[in-house]
Amino acid sequence: MLLATTLAAQEWQELKSEHFMLYFLSDENKEFSRGVLNKAEKDYNRIASDLGYSRNSNFWTWDNRVKIFVYPDHETYLKESGQPEWSEGMANYKNKSILSYSGSSNFLVSVLPHEMTHLIFRDFIGIRRKVPLWLDEGIAQWEEEAKRQIIKKTSKACFSRGTLFSIKDLMELDIHLIDKSNKIHLRGTSLGGEGGFLIIDGKSLVDIYYIESASLVGFLIERHGTENFTEFCRQLRDGRDLEGALSAAYPAQIHNIQELEAQWIEYLKEE
Ligand SMILES: [Zn+2]
Repeated sequence: MLLATTLAAQEWQELKSEHFMLYFLSDENKEFSRGVLNKAEKDYNRIASDLGYSRNSNFWTWDNRVKIFVYPDHETYLKESGQPEWSEGMANYKNKSILSYSGSSNFLVSVLPHEMTHLIFRDFIGIRRKVPLWLDEGIAQWEEEAKRQIIKKTSKACFSRGTLFSIKDLMELDIHLIDKSNKIHLRGTSLGGEGGFLIIDGKSLVDIYYIESASLVGFLIERHGTENFTEFCRQLRDGRDLEGALSAAYPAQIHNIQELEAQWIEYLKEE
């Protein structure tokens, strides 16, 4: 267990709410911790209802509450979590916990809703089932509410520059294999454009992947509503392939990847 190291000797103090148990170490961090707990409940209600999760929400109460650990500072957080230097927080799926540190503003606005969405979505899908990465990361970013305008603006700008990938390429790209420091990558088809090759550095490729994933989720939710979106996720969870899940969730509108792509392009073209 993470806490078995240097902090074991210290007393964790506990705060509880309906869906969360929050742990912090020093009285100085109490006010920040209360703010985190408040924000966590608000985010939970919004995200759970967006994902159609509220009907099963007992899953996160009582002994199943998610644990949030607030470390006293960034350095201690990094040491205890083993995360890279830039990390502001993380989620651990196995013991349903979220880790961060006192004073992190990025944690409240971005990391907390993002990681919570991964946990809720993981519960919904089931721990063993594979979820398409674009969908998992797309939802988590869309639920960072403050980021939505940036997602829209950036995805539209990338689209008009011709730097978005086709949906097929998006689905086939394994982003974990991309080395961000690599200078050259070859790309397949650009969205709505011609097939071809482009030289792009690893970091831009990862950035575009994330923006594009979030935009595609945003399109499905904004254009066709959360209920259909939840149905789409449920179909994937139950083992349908992408086109099967699309046809089942959007029977009157989307039947295959070509139709999905055409409608998403229309959405990207709107002012
Ligand atoms: Zn994520």
